Amino acid sequence: MKSLYGKFVLMTALIMLFSTLFGFLLTNTYYHRVMKERNDQKNVEIAKTITNHIEQTPPLDLREYLTTIGGIGYQLYIVDENGKSAFYGGKYRVKNLEKSAIDNVLQGEVYHGMRDFPRETFVTGFFANEMSNTIGVPFKYGSKQYALFMRPDIKLLFSEIHTMMGGMVIATALFSLLAMLFVAKMLIVPITQLTGATKRIASENYDVELNIDRKDEIGQLAASFTTMMEQLQENDKIRKEFISNVSHDFQSPLLNIQGYAGLLKADHLSDDDRKNYAAIIQSETSRLSRLTRQLLLLTSLDQSSRPVKFKDYRLDEQLKACINKYRWWLEEEHIHLHLTMEPTMYRGDEALFENVWDNLITNAIKYNRPKGEIRVSLERTEHGIEVIVQDTGIGISKAEQAQLFNRFYRADASRTKEGTGLGLSIVKQIIELHKGEIQVKSTPDEGTMFTIKLPNL
Ligand code: ADP
Repeated sequence: MKSLYGKFVLMTALIMLFSTLFGFLLTNTYYHRVMKERNDQKNVEIAKTITNHIEQTPPLDLREYLTTIGGIGYQLYIVDENGKSAFYGGKYRVKNLEKSAIDNVLQGEVYHGMRDFPRETFVTGFFANEMSNTIGVPFKYGSKQYALFMRPDIKLLFSEIHTMMGGMVIATALFSLLAMLFVAKMLIVPITQLTGATKRIASENYDVELNIDRKDEIGQLAASFTTMMEQLQENDKIRKEFISNVSHDFQSPLLNIQGYAGLLKADHLSDDDRKNYAAIIQSETSRLSRLTRQLLLLTSLDQSSRPVKFKDYRLDEQLKACINKYRWWLEEEHIHLHLTMEPTMYRGDEALFENVWDNLITNAIKYNRPKGEIRVSLERTEHGIEVIVQDTGIGISKAEQAQLFNRFYRADASRTKEGTGLGLSIVKQIIELHKGEIQVKSTPDEGTMFTIKLPNL
């Protein structure tokens, strides 16, 4: 039984079977514990009414009277003091009445066969059509002593109402079973659909439409599944784009290196040309090295294989050290630097923030104009720390700002400069790892301002 549906059908059938069995055992126990005694009592009273009638209504045709009583739903057995016996009404299936019981009744005792009927797990005494399962009362007719044994004729007493009730129980059970099977089918169809969709997604086929429109848990599962599928599709697209970008970005410096290395081999090369080619090879290798470093960092940030190492450190000192690294460059470009910083302790990953400041400062120099300005400020605010890096460079248009933090994105105006397009996406990821945010304000040809807000962690 592999399918869920098969299991459900089997379980339902087993549950119905076991509940019927359990119900039977319960009512049987109830009969033996409570009803048996009452039933016995009730039948003794009926028998006494019959014998009273016989004794008090002479002259009475005993045979005719007992035939009538038998006809209305009783199984009767009478024995006289001479051992002569007769049956009236319905037949007994088992004739197991002990002789001692007959003798006792003939001597005036009442026989409680119903009450004393042995308790059996799978036999309800109420239905046991046995002579020992009767009640017996004595009576006098004419000059003779008689014993009357009787029990209700269950077959005859089974009226239309019992048949109707029985039919209703069977119909209810059948209908419940059919309804359960239908409901199970309804529940399982969307699951089968989801399984099919999962298989298609596993083979990178995202063209899956689920027609599951329901509000219950399965509906929620289908909705989550669709969201997951869209996310996977998006991730797959990003992954493919990423691979193609990486391949391209590796390919062009490698081609350059290959080309210029070839040129370097040529004889009679002027000193200037040789230096030039070597410089190009050098710059291309450092570009490749930077690209590899950034890619490694991005991958480790993505896979969280590099846990964030929080520690308290002086953020202002880190920023100043980073700027000092590029003093030569600032001087070369005649860029004026304004620093506004106060001693500030911050709790974060120092090594990761190294990359943030490095990227923002080098961008501010790289995309600045000669004799331009850079302002870096660091201040403590109500919610944490705010760092601003502002330049008077080429700026970024509104349309380009929207894509600025995407991997490999480089605005057209900056194409002449060295770059990988990975820096800002790394910056954003690191800031978000510290629950902070980065905003950009920029006007083309006027300058750009990056604002970083870091909450206290
Ligand atoms: P890159 O290695 O190209 O600098 P980044 O991710 O650091 O990559 O920056 C992405 C792009 O954003 C850059 O190519 C550039 O077009 C633009 N950009 C970044 N910083 C500035 C800035 N300060 N001024 C103008 N443009 C900038």
